[in-house]
Amino acid sequence: MTLIESFEKLDYSDALESSEEAQNWLDSHGRRFGQFINGKFESRSDADLIASLNPSNGNLLANIEVAGPNQLKKAITAARNALPAWQAMDGHGRAKVLYALARLLQKHTRIVSVLETLDNGKPIRESRDIDIPLAIRHFYHHAGWAQIQEREFSEYKSIGVVAQIVPWNFPLLMLAWKIAPAIAMGNTLVFKPAEQTPITAMFFAHLCEQAGVPDGVINIVNGAGTTGAALAAHEGVDKVAFTGSTSVGRAIRKATAGQNKKLTLELGGKSAFVVFEDADLDAAVEGLVDSIWFNQGEVCCAGSRLLVQAQIADKLHTKLKKRMQTLRQGTPLNKSVDIGSLVSQTQYQRVDELVQNGIEQGGELYQASTTQPDGNYYPPTLITEIDSSHPLAQEEIFGPVLVSMPFRTQSEAVTLANNSRYGLAASIWSENINRAMDVAPKIKAGVIWINCHNQFDASCGFGGVRESGFGREGGKEGLYEYLQPKLLKKVAKSKPIKVERQSSKENIDRTLKFYIGGRQVRPDGGHSIATYKANGSLATWVGAGNRKDIRNAVSAATKASNWSNQNGHLRAQIIYFFAENLALREDEWIKRLQEICGLTKKQAKTEFNASLSRIFSYAAWADKYDGAVHNAPYRGVTMALPEAIGVLAQIAPEEKPLISTISLIAPAIAMGNRVVLIASERYASIALELVQTLETSDIPAGVVNILTGNKTDLAEQLAGHAEVDGIWCWAEPETVAQVEATSAIDLKRLWVHIDGDRDWLDSQQGEGLEFLRNATEVKNIWTPYGD
Ligand code: NAD
Repeated sequence: MTLIESFEKLDYSDALESSEEAQNWLDSHGRRFGQFINGKFESRSDADLIASLNPSNGNLLANIEVAGPNQLKKAITAARNALPAWQAMDGHGRAKVLYALARLLQKHTRIVSVLETLDNGKPIRESRDIDIPLAIRHFYHHAGWAQIQEREFSEYKSIGVVAQIVPWNFPLLMLAWKIAPAIAMGNTLVFKPAEQTPITAMFFAHLCEQAGVPDGVINIVNGAGTTGAALAAHEGVDKVAFTGSTSVGRAIRKATAGQNKKLTLELGGKSAFVVFEDADLDAAVEGLVDSIWFNQGEVCCAGSRLLVQAQIADKLHTKLKKRMQTLRQGTPLNKSVDIGSLVSQTQYQRVDELVQNGIEQGGELYQASTTQPDGNYYPPTLITEIDSSHPLAQEEIFGPVLVSMPFRTQSEAVTLANNSRYGLAASIWSENINRAMDVAPKIKAGVIWINCHNQFDASCGFGGVRESGFGREGGKEGLYEYLQPKLLKKVAKSKPIKVERQSSKENIDRTLKFYIGGRQVRPDGGHSIATYKANGSLATWVGAGNRKDIRNAVSAATKASNWSNQNGHLRAQIIYFFAENLALREDEWIKRLQEICGLTKKQAKTEFNASLSRIFSYAAWADKYDGAVHNAPYRGVTMALPEAIGVLAQIAPEEKPLISTISLIAPAIAMGNRVVLIASERYASIALELVQTLETSDIPAGVVNILTGNKTDLAEQLAGHAEVDGIWCWAEPETVAQVEATSAIDLKRLWVHIDGDRDWLDSQQGEGLEFLRNATEVKNIWTPYGD
């Protein structure tokens, strides 16, 4: 071909990255890796092996030994032993280690990128320009957080030994997302890479030796699901941080129920890519390339559901198909390919099966190129002519497969975007910023990109809602996942009340009703429970709630969704009014607290005044807890907005019933949640006595609902209810375990405690940012600017 002909054709020639250095490195380790425990590699000749293959050609990269139970135990023990010194080290000491890791990774960018591409099948262009630089940035950024930890998080301490488990789609990047914040905040850890892609974690282990990571702070074990399950459920672990599929996330939620472990789950998604008629269509097409064909579509937040305004749908599809024909797929080490190989033959078969089975149920399939005979190259795929109930529109495919559906109006776009059990991310494409900013808060997802997709940075929180999991990685919000409050002090339970034999005179007929949907209602089952004064005499009767009462209360809270859309100023005024009305009843409350809780007059006054002050605090916070603008390195701003969780079930603590009830309800409603509260059993009447004040305080019907009855039974109903978005629970260990296990059904966001973990009267323990953070979920909205 002449030069002129080449120029006219403007085709790419091959530009293969050399893998020699990486292959030599693998050879130098005998193409076999064991476990990295207590700063050393350990190998066992009798270990089970997993072959790590290059998915684009099937060649063996290395054999990986599966960690046995003893090695797992040894790794967890090493992390435990290393913990005190690592926690005691000042932030600067830890910052130096993180900084050294960042520098070393930077020095080895080339070999690490090649190893990643060999192991995963992703194009070298992506590992070199995206995965590895982002991983390095994560270590740098978190070195900074370690440095300023003492000032920024003075009321917090590390959690302890953390188990971290990641999938295969971004092996080193996921490692960085897990390890950097954990060690920055003073935790030690045992990390497990995915069995398909362990190589860069092994390379990283060698860097740990050079970076001066103290022995035992970072331990890396290998294995598949069984090893992951054993690690997550191990009693020596204080926290589990998991990224992977929703089904495994659910299994971990169940397996760790009742173990008193903190848990974060970053799970699957089916993110919407919403294109309005006023979008720049060429930019949207390029956005789709970055969204669904980046990393072969093996991206949890891939924009795999294209929602396009009907009048431009044909035009966009035509442009898109044309662009799909120019996507280059092939050998991942070729610097001029756009799409590489899926991670394994199994993944190829899974994607293919989902598409073949799905298409049998309708839809039009368009594939730009034919499947290549070797390797696991799945062609870029577009499926149109389906509706939102189609399995391909609901299931996460985790491959380069885009489904497209039309919408007519903005509100239909929002409804369609939210028609998913997932809630990880979404992008909105419109040249009208008013429209984009109006839609962003309405989409139920943890991350929203405006006129872009798949943007990530260490300074911005990432994570989902609904079945995409809970917790955030990155940003200041992500660091709290590795911290716990320093100040909590356990308190003892009050002695049981000695119930007096009832005289007929005392058999008063005063039954306090439930408060549901702004009305006082009788329990559905017609059963009541006696409550007693501190002296053992009968105080009053309260209802025994059942499944139907819970249903009614949740339905009332769901209907009160307007509360979540109100501004903080309005909520503040209503909450102040509630405090004012309560203050009018001071004498009555002092007497009640003395009689029911057996307090002295002084103690009763103290609790009452502290309760009023607490309501005032949250009224104050209602318009002040207002998020941040993250400083990510791009031309734009990322707004981190705290949003209400939605319908919040609250299982109240047993002790200090007035202030503990207030301490739960007030922050929750101040942040815009609607509450269903199950009162203390021992002091069931106290929460219900608040009803008259709630009724006269302009709090809209359904925002606060209060029930009494058996806490364990009612908590179980709430944990299994599909319309409850989150649960706060202070209860006995068995109830906590049950809530954790039952909530796995739809992976509700939990904040659970063994009752007695704090002194509610103490404003440091019973009030503050910890409550506000748990009453909200941070949504990061990325808004680039400039042409
Ligand atoms: P997977 O859940 O099968 O495996 C993930 C990890 O969990 C692997 O290390 C695996 O060995 C381990 N594992 C498997 N069974 C386990 C068990 N019972 N207990 C403990 N650990 C176990 O997921 P995958 O197929 O490797 O990855 C794809 C999934 O990951 C997709 O659903 C994707 O959306 C999700 N993902 C989510 C994010 C996020 O940040 N939300 C990021 C990347 C990937």
